[in-house]
Amino acid sequence: MNKLTIYSSIALTALLLATGCSDTKSTKHSESEGHHAKHWGYTADVGPSHWSELNEKFNMCSQGKQQSPINVVATSDIELPALNLAYTTGSKSIIDNGHTVQVNITDGSVLKIDGADYKLKQFHFHTPSENNINGKSFPLEAHFVHATDDGKLAVVAVMFKEGAENKTLAKIWKKLPTLKANEGKEQKCGLTSDEVKSLMPTNKDYYKFTGSLTTPPCSEQVKWHVYKTPLTVSKEQASAFTALFGHPNNRPIQDTNKRKIEE
Ligand SMILES: [Zn+2]
Repeated sequence: MNKLTIYSSIALTALLLATGCSDTKSTKHSESEGHHAKHWGYTADVGPSHWSELNEKFNMCSQGKQQSPINVVATSDIELPALNLAYTTGSKSIIDNGHTVQVNITDGSVLKIDGADYKLKQFHFHTPSENNINGKSFPLEAHFVHATDDGKLAVVAVMFKEGAENKTLAKIWKKLPTLKANEGKEQKCGLTSDEVKSLMPTNKDYYKFTGSLTTPPCSEQVKWHVYKTPLTVSKEQASAFTALFGHPNNRPIQDTNKRKIEE
């Protein structure tokens, strides 16, 4: 797929914004899934190998040639410029949407790419990591999801290796029991912009490649940026997240199909 259709842009935007403040209904049925679609998930007959069978709009999950996640191995060293991130806002809300825990961000934080404003919409988590780096999996991966007004997507990914407890995660994790009890409903989160930024490493080296959403509809042309340096998460923090859902929430590694991966 070389170009997002207007329809899929709208569907994507609906997906991204389905957790807006005024929306307290369950987000398990995202707008893109339609009324007769089955839920997608991570296990059994709704798991990743079945996603494309659940809804014709999920076609790319099996037909795409630039799918995510991947095993990230650099193919060209071009001294990438630092990411132009200006995170100036904190959390708007937090939600357990049935697939992950997602922190929605107040408008105003931006990642600039080639002169275009990719606005930070939300970040969320996967256990274990979805992407691997040089064949290595991590206990946790955070995805910072950005979108332009016309629906182009960019993700910044941060890996967490096992180690000391992460203080910002601890603040978020305190909400986990309340979130599960109120699945699909937004709660207050109370993260400052500094706390959001604390979830990114000091060393800003990263990998850059083109990929997809790692969840249905698996839309492509997503600009991926994966920081090389992991933060730490305690064993207890990682397992508390997995326990919340009762299963891992990582899509299996997809074929790179000889994609260019810059560092
Ligand atoms: Zn994700």
